[in-house]
Amino acid sequence: MKAERKNLFEFQWAVDQDGYEIEKVPPGSGSTLVYSYPGYRQIRRRGGPWKHYRPVEEDPGIARRFACLPETPDAVLQFVNRYGLPGTSALGTSAPDPWSEFEPLEDLYRGIRNLRFLFDLIDADKRQQVLELFNQHLKPRMTIRIGGGGTKKPHLEVAPLSLNSFMALQLAEEITRKNVRYVLCENCPSWFLHRRHKRFCSNTCRVAAHRKKGLENKQ
Ligand SMILES: [Zn+2]
Repeated sequence: MKAERKNLFEFQWAVDQDGYEIEKVPPGSGSTLVYSYPGYRQIRRRGGPWKHYRPVEEDPGIARRFACLPETPDAVLQFVNRYGLPGTSALGTSAPDPWSEFEPLEDLYRGIRNLRFLFDLIDADKRQQVLELFNQHLKPRMTIRIGGGGTKKPHLEVAPLSLNSFMALQLAEEITRKNVRYVLCENCPSWFLHRRHKRFCSNTCRVAAHRKKGLENKQ
C-alpha cells in the first residue's frame, strides 16, 4: 500500500532551516510597476540553508492539517516554519529564485479556505460537487519525470510543482481511491490514514495520551 502511494506522486519539498517571518509590504512600493496596490502582509524566508523532506513521510495527512488551520498569522507561520511556503515554486534549485522567497498571507488563507471547503464536502459525502469544483478551480500544477535508473526500472512519475499542488492531489486521492480516508489523531493536529482501532498518529501520541489520562484519573 505504501509503495503504491509513493509511486503515484514523487514529491519533495524544502523548508528554510532558519525559519520564516511576517513582514509588511507598504502600499504601492517595492516594485517598478506603474499601478499602485494597497499594503499587505507576507511571510518571508530568512535565507538559511534549505532542508529537503518528503511530505508524504513527514506528515501523511498534511493537506487535512493545512485545511484545519485557523486563518491567523501565528497559525500559518507555525505551519510554514515546519513545512515551508506551500505556494512557491522551484524550491531549492541551484539558481536563486525570487518566487521561493515569500508568499502573501492572504494567498495562504485562500488556500486554507479552498481546501477546507472541499474537505467539508467530502465529509458530507457530496462528492459530485467536489469533483466539479476541483476541476473548475483547483488546477494543481504537475510535471512528469522519469524515475528509477541505476538498478531500478525507469518508470513515469507525476511530480507536483508546489506543496499546494501536492495537497490538492492528496485531496483528489481521497475521492478517487478506495480505502483512502484520513482521521484526526486524538492527541495532536496530525491526520493519518484510517485503520481499524487506530486512534493516534504515532506511538509517541498514544503514550502521551495514556499518560495524560493517567494523570487525570489521579486528580
Ligand atoms: Zn498525534
